[in-house]
Amino acid sequence: MSYCPKNKLLNLLRRGSKFVRKASNSSAPTVTPTSTPGQASSATAISLTLAMDDLHTLKTRLCIIGSGPAAHIAAIYASRAELKPILFEGWMANGIAPGSQLTMTTEVENFPGFLDGINGNKLMDRYRVVAMRLDFPGSAEDPGGFWNQGISACAVRDGAAPIFKNKLLVVIGGGDSAMEAPTFLTKYGSIVYIIHRRDTFRASKIMQQRALTNPKIQVKNVLSGEVLDLKVSGLFFAIGHEPATKFLDGQLELGSSGYVVTA
Ligand SMILES: Cc1cc2nc3c(=O)[nH]c(=O)nc-3n(C[C@H](O)[C@H](O)[C@H](O)COP(=O)(O)OP(=O)(O)OC[C@H]3O[C@@H](n4cnc5c(N)ncnc54)[C@H](O)[C@@H]3O)c2cc1C
Repeated sequence: MSYCPKNKLLNLLRRGSKFVRKASNSSAPTVTPTSTPGQASSATAISLTLAMDDLHTLKTRLCIIGSGPAAHIAAIYASRAELKPILFEGWMANGIAPGSQLTMTTEVENFPGFLDGINGNKLMDRYRVVAMRLDFPGSAEDPGGFWNQGISACAVRDGAAPIFKNKLLVVIGGGDSAMEAPTFLTKYGSIVYIIHRRDTFRASKIMQQRALTNPKIQVKNVLSGEVLDLKVSGLFFAIGHEPATKFLDGQLELGSSGYVVTA
């Protein structure tokens, strides 16, 4: 992830504001008492040129504006998805310092992982360090078992890991997630197979159309009876999640899929 550093921004802002002041006062003799109007406008032109020298166009697929927890979490997940986001941290935007409202408090007590609480500034420094470290995805692999070693239940989180680059991948499922995951994974894998158990998909038509017209996606239906020996490097489950709400049964209203009914 790239930061648009605040020092550089500050510098630009100072130069910019100097320029704006000069531009708006260029005809006022109190500001440039010894200048003729011609001299004032050439000084303004030089200021503008200096300010413009520092400006260049940044191209990115994902621009995150802000520097609080929300922005950093977005940057962390986007970095893991190899979107190479650029985060603009701003300067006293909305009256808040770079690094969020939490820089205004001493003790944050409710962030899991900090047994004795943590100073708000320190916490936000850590967000920043993690977001910048995750420039390279796949750094948090689990040393045990196949989870995160090739088997995953989250294509968006894990799909960009180097172990899946240009490899054959499989997604299991037939709903919207099973259409979305392979579409996403085609950015990294060579071919993505969708394996599903019925002869029709439950996914919405639009999601199906997006996935099934992708030349890097192939569909394998277990009802066809075809036996395949696929040498795949990644297997992604997209078969839905069972909400852990059984203990609430009889106490709160649960929908047919087990989710708590909220409205
Ligand atoms: C005194 C105080 C104590 C708090 N204590 C706690 C606590 O103990 N525990 C807790 O959970 N919550 C606490 N909160 C609430 C917590 O700070 C917020 O819920 C949290 O910071 C929200 O995060 P955010 O990323 O959505 O936004 P913010 O923290 O508001 O961050 C937004 C950031 O984006 C920047 N920004 C805004 N506009 C732009 C722009 N146009 N360009 C560039 N940058 C921009 C701002 O400068 C700011 O740094 C506290 C809040 C305060 C004020």
